[in-house]
Amino acid sequence: MPPPIEFAPHSAVILLSGGLDSATCLALALARGRDCRTISFDYGQRHRHELAAAAALSPGLGAAHHLVVPVGLGAIGGSALTDPGIAVPTAAARVGASPIPTTYVPARNLIFLALATAYAETAGASEIWIGANAVDYSGYPDCREPFLRAFERTAAIGTRAGIRPDGTAAIRVVAPLVHLSKAEIIRVGASLGVDFGLTRSCYDPQITADGKFFACGRCESCAIRRAGFLAAGIEDTTVYAPDLAHPQGAAHG
Ligand code: ZN
Repeated sequence: MPPPIEFAPHSAVILLSGGLDSATCLALALARGRDCRTISFDYGQRHRHELAAAAALSPGLGAAHHLVVPVGLGAIGGSALTDPGIAVPTAAARVGASPIPTTYVPARNLIFLALATAYAETAGASEIWIGANAVDYSGYPDCREPFLRAFERTAAIGTRAGIRPDGTAAIRVVAPLVHLSKAEIIRVGASLGVDFGLTRSCYDPQITADGKFFACGRCESCAIRRAGFLAAGIEDTTVYAPDLAHPQGAAHG
């Protein structure tokens, strides 16, 4: 038998998309004493700006290492985020529409968690942290607690890391934000010093030729983010497209 893998009890892999939730999740893991490695996925997403955000946020917040894994989900399509032929719906168009919007990427978190598990197992990390949230969210089924718990169990059965003698998974899936509102997440992140101006949530931003970023202010992700800042009573430093009217006059820069 090969020797058992030594899993560092305070070592964690953090899924870092570059958005507000995952940045807060990383800050929380660091605040709780974890030695953090971040992982991002270049999956053919429309909002590629988030990859640059993740690359800046990871060392900025204090992660020890940042890994980008290419995943060709664009070849599969089936989502407004991976198929240029499917328009990103506005938040207004979502009212009364299907509970799972076209921005859902088929099996995205299932795939990402599987890859994060491979990384954790290789790196000897005993936890995977994911900023999934099932309160102020878009109804994606792979953001919910039952899925995360079932995934953890599945991964434990199917990996060398496996199950501990006490019956728990050797690699735990930690989702500290799953039951928090967006406003609560923003308050937590702010208390931990997350610079939300560096995070990117918009599904359909405008990027100028010289690389300036403007959130659209109209997609569901922008709407949830903006409402969260308003509810939290914290200034929204998101730079919105200048041709749009905003309640906080937030078109900085
Ligand atoms: Zn947007």
